[in-house]
Amino acid sequence: MAQTTVFTCDICKKSKGEKDLAKIKVNVEGIRIKGCDRYNPLVIDICTECLKEKGFIVEPKVDDAENEQTAGRNKMSLEDKLYDILEDMGVAFTE
Ligand SMILES: [Zn+2]
Repeated sequence: MAQTTVFTCDICKKSKGEKDLAKIKVNVEGIRIKGCDRYNPLVIDICTECLKEKGFIVEPKVDDAENEQTAGRNKMSLEDKLYDILEDMGVAFTE
């Protein structure tokens, strides 16, 4: 079946296939972020290339021990790069 829906990476704004995009959802409570609240999570569609650029490991590994390491590294990358990602999206933090 032909899939014609076009998805766009929120970071590089390039058109991507659905499988090339990861989704990061940020639920917001206790901080004002434009366009989101506790009922409307901020959804970030981010492509493989941008993930790599932010330091995420996207290649699936077969080894379980390695998978765990990858997950740990990616968690660190997310904590590290979340602000970067939000800034790339033009999300404004307001007081
Ligand atoms: Zn991208």
